[in-house]
Amino acid sequence: MADIRVRFAPSPTGFLHIGGARTALFNFLFARSQEGTFVLRIEDTDTVRSTQESVDEILKAMEWLGLNWDEGPYYQSERFNLYKEKVQQLLDEGKAYRCYCTSEELDKKREQAMAEGRKPKYDGTCRERMDHPGNTPFVIRFRAPDNGTTSFNDLIKGTISVNNEELDDVIIQRTDGTPTYNFVVVVDDADMGITHVIRGDDHINNTPRQILLYEALGYQVPCFAHVPMILGSDKTRLSKRHGATSVMAYRDMGYLPEAMVNYLVRLGWSFGDEEIFSLADLIEKFSLSNVGKSAGVFNPEKLLWLNSHYIKRSDPNALVPLVIEQLEKKGLQADNPNLPGLIGLYQERAKTLEEMADSLTWVFKSELEFDEKAAAKFLIESLRPLFEQIITHLETCEPFSHDEIEKRVNSLMEETGLKMGKIAQPIRVALTGGTVSPSVFELLPLIGKDETLRRLKNALSLLEPE
Ligand code: GLU
Repeated sequence: MADIRVRFAPSPTGFLHIGGARTALFNFLFARSQEGTFVLRIEDTDTVRSTQESVDEILKAMEWLGLNWDEGPYYQSERFNLYKEKVQQLLDEGKAYRCYCTSEELDKKREQAMAEGRKPKYDGTCRERMDHPGNTPFVIRFRAPDNGTTSFNDLIKGTISVNNEELDDVIIQRTDGTPTYNFVVVVDDADMGITHVIRGDDHINNTPRQILLYEALGYQVPCFAHVPMILGSDKTRLSKRHGATSVMAYRDMGYLPEAMVNYLVRLGWSFGDEEIFSLADLIEKFSLSNVGKSAGVFNPEKLLWLNSHYIKRSDPNALVPLVIEQLEKKGLQADNPNLPGLIGLYQERAKTLEEMADSLTWVFKSELEFDEKAAAKFLIESLRPLFEQIITHLETCEPFSHDEIEKRVNSLMEETGLKMGKIAQPIRVALTGGTVSPSVFELLPLIGKDETLRRLKNALSLLEPE
């Protein structure tokens, strides 16, 4: 087989959504696993709905996921001359014609066909028309064959055949002179030497029409692989109702790209019962033959589970800038040099980086906020002697290390006869404002002696009668 070339061809009319990202991923993996070329093409012929902002968003999302392309981005808006030339070729060869039917006329015919129980299809009024009425607007239609069948062997769905009779004379150029999707996609895929078209199965009905265009233009027809849709938990097409559908929204919520990639690939592809895949694993293992025929169901719980898996495995230093970003969103300046250590303590329990930042806000808030219940239970006069003892013991604790702090707490336990929790909890509350935190022996050295004592003394000043 010739060198494999695939493409991802987003329309820049919005952000990169989950479905688009999965299509991009499958194309990327297929290219990498076959040592082929991954082309990125921006389908921006709809100049009204396409925006540069969307292009930037899509590129950013692909970079975030690590889906590096080898060629492009090509922009269809810069290729209009080629499309014009190809439309002209079809006109010259009699394979396309100008259609002057107005939309009112077409609507009427459609209604009539429906009323008579016929499939609405262009009736060919202008097929043989030879005149060129000067100022009348026209579209250009492709002259589809009246009989025969068009078949292709979809690499995911199997053989698909359609009676040509059912295919309309598709419009290839609109009245404003711009070419349509079905036409430019064929010209571009052929011109760019695309060997495999891997895309969502919402395009499967377009494929026979496109195949006819390939043939009419004298191009070789590529292989097709139509990936099943992604559904929400209620089995309807995935939409905003099911939660965020923009890939970058997940980045903002503190998901890691490794988790997203791992999640996306499993929405339609499987490899035995394995669940955890790095991009490198996937390049080795991916094949289209393991893409399922049925729709994938979006499961946010599983994405969350994968995210916590990847957070646990991450080098805390790599998470630092991401956690800082999350903290900054909360208006906090995360300038603690021990942040990697703190992240190390929290990464076992945080499912997202946003959640991690939430658990760390106490470190950075200029004024600590106390949880009401925790305050009612621990910031009370009767605990004054205990707070004072804790402070005395920690004041002389040198070095302010895990082991030294543990020793002080142990002797405090002996002196007071209290259990560990009874001593650790007031320390937690004084430090973090709440009763849930990683081990105080690990936490305190990261907060430092001065800050620990400052917080304990602050708590002392807040004690209230029960
Ligand atoms: N621009 C089209 C879309 O975003 C691409 C379809 C295709 O891959 O052919 O749906």
